[in-house]
Amino acid sequence: MSSFKPVSVQRNLDSAYKETVQQTTCAYCGVGCGVDIQVRQEGKQQEIVALKGSVKHPANLGRLCVKGSQLASTVDDSIRLARPSINGRDASWDDATAAVAKGFSDIISEHGPDSVAFYVSGQLLTEDYYVANKLMKGYIGSANIDTNSRLCMSSAVAAHKRAFGADVVPCNYEDLELCDLLVFIGSNAAWTHPVLFQRVEKAKAENPNLKLVFIDPRKTASCESADLHLAIKAGTDVALFNGLLNYLASNGGLDQAYIENHVDGFEETLETAGLWSLDRVAEVCDINSRDIEAFYQLFSSTEKAISFFSMGVNQSSSGVDKANSIINCHLATGKIGKAGSGPFSITGQPNAMGGREVGGLANLLAAHMDIDNSEHRALVQSYWGSPAIADKPGLKAVDLFERINEGKVKAVWVMATNPLVSMPNRNQVQAALEKCELVVVSDCVASNDTLEYADIKLPATGWSEKDGTVTNSERTISRQRGFLSPYGESRHDWQILCGVAQKMGFSGFDFQSPSDVFKEYAGLTAYKNDGRRSLDISKLADLSEDDYNALRPVQWPVNRANPRGTRRMFTDGVFFTPNQRAKCIPTEYQAPEQAVSEAFPYVLNTGRLRDQWHTMTRTGTSAELSQHIDEAALAIHPKDAAELGLKEGSYVSLASSVEKHQSQQVLLPLKIDQGLRRHELFAPIHWGKEWASSSSIAHLFTDARDKLSGQPELKHAAVSLTPVEITQHIHVVSRSPLPKEWLQHHADVWTKIRIREAFSYRIANTSARSSLADGFKHVFPSFDEAISHDDQSRKQLVLLLDGKIESACFVSDEPLNIERTWVESLVGADALSSEQVNGLLHAQIDAEFAQGRIVCSCFKVGENAIKDAITAQGCQTIDDLGDKLKCGTNCGSCRSELRQILDSEGVQPLNLEPLETAV
Ligand code: SF4
Repeated sequence: MSSFKPVSVQRNLDSAYKETVQQTTCAYCGVGCGVDIQVRQEGKQQEIVALKGSVKHPANLGRLCVKGSQLASTVDDSIRLARPSINGRDASWDDATAAVAKGFSDIISEHGPDSVAFYVSGQLLTEDYYVANKLMKGYIGSANIDTNSRLCMSSAVAAHKRAFGADVVPCNYEDLELCDLLVFIGSNAAWTHPVLFQRVEKAKAENPNLKLVFIDPRKTASCESADLHLAIKAGTDVALFNGLLNYLASNGGLDQAYIENHVDGFEETLETAGLWSLDRVAEVCDINSRDIEAFYQLFSSTEKAISFFSMGVNQSSSGVDKANSIINCHLATGKIGKAGSGPFSITGQPNAMGGREVGGLANLLAAHMDIDNSEHRALVQSYWGSPAIADKPGLKAVDLFERINEGKVKAVWVMATNPLVSMPNRNQVQAALEKCELVVVSDCVASNDTLEYADIKLPATGWSEKDGTVTNSERTISRQRGFLSPYGESRHDWQILCGVAQKMGFSGFDFQSPSDVFKEYAGLTAYKNDGRRSLDISKLADLSEDDYNALRPVQWPVNRANPRGTRRMFTDGVFFTPNQRAKCIPTEYQAPEQAVSEAFPYVLNTGRLRDQWHTMTRTGTSAELSQHIDEAALAIHPKDAAELGLKEGSYVSLASSVEKHQSQQVLLPLKIDQGLRRHELFAPIHWGKEWASSSSIAHLFTDARDKLSGQPELKHAAVSLTPVEITQHIHVVSRSPLPKEWLQHHADVWTKIRIREAFSYRIANTSARSSLADGFKHVFPSFDEAISHDDQSRKQLVLLLDGKIESACFVSDEPLNIERTWVESLVGADALSSEQVNGLLHAQIDAEFAQGRIVCSCFKVGENAIKDAITAQGCQTIDDLGDKLKCGTNCGSCRSELRQILDSEGVQPLNLEPLETAV
């Protein structure tokens, strides 16, 4: 591997030398790639010596994206939570679990079971999720357990249940290669699900008939591969797909036999969709009708079509209707249950699907059973032999934090997630956590925005240590295998939960291993099933410990009829509704709830970046993963920026109806982006207060959510922009992190990133701080020895210890462009030469480091080098660039950006047949 560096940790072991290779699963996205890890162990030391994609895993067939390739670089003991604590004081596990049990039990006795809640995570393994759900729903007797998966794909779950009678994804990843039309809706898969996107790109290269259509308000990196991009107005998907159904009905595109034999509700659905003429769709979606018709024709005339949808569809106040409007078109054309056909919901989190399976959402019971079904409730309770069973749905994420804020929920246990950064309406979530009588947080890290509010902190094992199973977007259950021993006193989440349950006096929590938990869960899927419930993994209910440890990836259902798993669902046209027929659902277009107005004239869209994950609790610790984009920025159309008199790098503060004041809560530099629609903006979701002072966009979103799924509308806020004048720019490089107090005094706006062997801070001040040197004395005791250079508008301060940089500070009236690779080379040097010190003092960057933003993280290839290879060295294709610079030849995550750069330099990298000819 190109940039793989062995990673060593010390553990409380005393082992003889041994080396093992294990297959585990990537920690990040719903693709669920298999990862082969080689670990060397001797004495107290464990070392990850190699990491690569598993050739035998069906999800990735050996590939990994840049995040997966860099998994080892996020194994960092320095950020871990080592031992339990109660109110800031270290505690034993015995005392900590007793305190949690007593806290929850006392509140339940006084206020009832619904006064407590768990808020869990798609980062948990299925076994953790199962035990949490069992404790809350079967023993505490409340359904107040919800998860950050609510923010990710709960709209798709509700849509599946309405259409199919069960939460079932019909397709598998191979279908992406077998189809002739692939419609991406609300997904920048090149960045969010890179390995799937690479499979698609390969399929397209091999099959010229495969057409790619992108439906997204933004022209993203993924759209570089598009045959057709429909940049619809944000939130108008239902109009587009109602129009498609109408077009299919009017143009002979329906499969009447399939509808007759397998689908209910078609006539009513068409009645609603029939109102959507091409012209009306064009008006509401705000794109030209010719492009819409081209898409409709393609869908109608292509037998094998996949609709690949993700958070752009789900995170909406009408997310369920959006998903059903897509599914309707597949049911009406029989494009489902066949190779290369179907609606394909892709999850964001590594185990969002596993959480759904074991009832991790507040409205579900374990094993896909329904809380509002008395037969299901009785069945689950009798299987568990539990004293109670929740008899009504619990609080979904947004409602949960609202009820905490109202004082109705008095204790919450947050597991493996960071709701302060990811939930909408941050101020309300913060107020809720401040007010809550008992906040318990179990996590593997010692610090994040949410942990600040924890009364009791419980150290959980991290990805490299956790042992159990996860389920990816295509229903594949894979083993996640712990390959390092737990850090400090950390425990697995299922163990922590069992400890608390036992202290609460409950039996049924004496599991000794994850395989014990898994077998109980598998048994529940089989219990009185009789083929009526889709989720049936009865064949796995009797696995021995060895079989469980050796379990290979397998797609559910795994039962007597399908002992090797099930690649594709609904092949027989039989669904899980009472009459076994699928349902078309009439869907009405509704505009997003946060409407633009004179006061808030811009639409803010959000999403993920290529190399970061969730709230950066893992990826933020990797120097490699911050090379691509190292600070949050607000993308804006060039004409909108010009209208405001602003340019790239200008700062703006954002306000919305929930964060009305220009309080600098959200204050970002601008990034000019031609790919946006006018008056629509884009900002990444990742940054919280741990990594930046003013980049947490959660402040701007209201509680708007889908009325069925409860999924918050995180793709559409109405905001205003106010330019902010920056008069001082500071860049600090420091081996140790700067204290928050220092930042509060010296920085109006700051962003921190990890670089090799140091931290790098960008600071923007609205009024110049003249006392920086004094300030540094508090941070660095030997700062008197710092050397400095001053000229009119710039100042550089450098502190050397034993000839090595301890810290360097660059101050300027103008924006600074300090090349990171240059700084890293100097920080990494054993002793600086006098030329290097002089260069630092004058901020004179060596020419060899002036390569611009890193595009290829694996081989550290910058934008300038790529442009030079195109313009001066004649590179015409991605492969040419790979041959010349190696970029794009390892994980492949940067290939869509290489295409963008080729495009921007006037080279057409793909020989795309014009769509009109193709149709
Ligand atoms: Fe991990 Fe990347 Fe695979 Fe997602 S696509 S599972 S982030 S390696």
